[in-house]
Amino acid sequence: MNDEYYRWKAEKLHRYLEDRADRLDETCMLCEKKSARRSHTRFSYDTPWDDEPQDKLFCSDDCADTYMYEEPWVYFWCEPCEREICEQNPLNGWHIQYRDYGYERVCLSCYKDLILENGVERDKLESGHIPGMFFDWGNT
Ligand SMILES: [Zn+2]
Ligand SMILES: [Zn+2]
Repeated sequence: MNDEYYRWKAEKLHRYLEDRADRLDETCMLCEKKSARRSHTRFSYDTPWDDEPQDKLFCSDDCADTYMYEEPWVYFWCEPCEREICEQNPLNGWHIQYRDYGYERVCLSCYKDLILENGVERDKLESGHIPGMFFDWGNT
């Protein structure tokens, strides 16, 4: 037994503890086999109107990317509010939850703010008729 051995042993223990701390009690949302890992958790919003993000738990980046960016649950990044939001939410009838604004894709919530700010289609907004059904999905 020499120093080298103890160092190796200590490193191994360290990695083991790190690994264990990273592992969550839940299983991966995609493969539903492996334990989810803290370091691969994604935070996303199911609708633009949610105040709090949902933790999505995955075992790996592969599982996370598949879940987040492949059909039918596709998420997009909204630059103005810096959130990752579901493009279409089955819970609200698969309505598209983004609009193209200039060069960007923005969520409905930001789109509404942008329109209000710029005064475009203001009277349509005020009378409750907005192109794209903002307030249509109701709070169930
Ligand atoms: Zn997985
Ligand atoms: Zn937004």
